[in-house]
Amino acid sequence: MDAITVIERCRQEEISLGELALRLEGEQNGASPDEVLDRVEQMLVVMERAAHEALAKPVRSVSGLTGGDAYRYDQYRKEGRSILGEAASMAMAFALSSSETNAAMGRIVACPTAGSCGILPAALFSMAHTHTFSRRQLQDAFLAAGVVGMIIDEHASLAGAQGGCQAECGSAAAMAAAAVVQLMGGSPAQCFHAGAIAIKNMLGLVCDPVAGLVEIPCIKRNAGGVLQALGAADLALSGVESYIPFDDTVEAMNRVGNAMPAALRETALGGLATTASGKEMRERIYGA
Ligand code: SF4
Repeated sequence: MDAITVIERCRQEEISLGELALRLEGEQNGASPDEVLDRVEQMLVVMERAAHEALAKPVRSVSGLTGGDAYRYDQYRKEGRSILGEAASMAMAFALSSSETNAAMGRIVACPTAGSCGILPAALFSMAHTHTFSRRQLQDAFLAAGVVGMIIDEHASLAGAQGGCQAECGSAAAMAAAAVVQLMGGSPAQCFHAGAIAIKNMLGLVCDPVAGLVEIPCIKRNAGGVLQALGAADLALSGVESYIPFDDTVEAMNRVGNAMPAALRETALGGLATTASGKEMRERIYGA
C-alpha cells in the first residue's frame, strides 16, 4: 500500500485516515473496531504515563549517563521562561520524559521504536494539553499515525540499524505530523503532506548512539523530532504542500538509508559515538 492509494480510498469512502486504519485492521486481521480501539487505548494510557513520568521527578537512566533533563526543562517551562509557545514547549517536555523513561527501563510504547518513543505521544498529548479533544479523537489520530508508519515500514525501514535515525526519529516525526493534522481536522492528503515535510527535514539523519545506548543523542532527538512534527503539521494545515509527494520521500529515505555506511547505522562506530567525549563516556561505562 502507498499514500496515493490510501488518499484515494479515503476520498472515495469519505473517511479519515484513522477510520481507514480501523477498516484495514478488520480486513487484514479480522479485528473488530472495538478490539482495535481497546488496544489503541491501552497503548495511549502507557504513552501518557511515560510522557508525564520524568516531569514529576528527575529520572536517571540505568547507565547513569543521562537523566533529569525532562524535569529541568519542565520546571523552566512552567516558570514561563520558554521562548517557545505552550504547545511546542509542552511537546518537548513530554518527548524528553518518554525517552528518559525508556532509558530508565520504564514502560513505554515503542512507536515505531523504543529510541523514537517520545515523539508521537509528545505530539498527541501536547495537542490535548492546549486544545480540547475526546479520547476517541486521540485514538483516531494514533491510528492515522499507524497508517503512515505502515507505509514507511513497507517501502523503507523503521530501524536505525537499517536506515539510520531518519528511519526511527524521522518516521516517528512523520507519523506524529500526520496524527496532529488529523486531530486538527485536516484531510488525509494534508496528513501525508505533513508526513512528507517531516521526513524531508530529517532525511539523512544518522544513527550514532554513544556507547551503543539509546540515550545520547536519542533523548534530545525526540525533543527535536516532535518540533519537526508540529512544524510540518502546521505548514500542512495552512495549505502548504510538499513538492515531493510522501511516497517519493519514503523512497528517497530508503535509498539514503541503504547508502549510509555501517558506522552510521546503530553500530556506535561513527558520528557522535566516536567523538572524544562520546568515547570517554563509553570508557566510563565499559572500561577502556
Ligand atoms: S540515534 Fe539510533 S538508537 Fe538513537 S533514536 Fe536514533 S536511530 Fe534510535
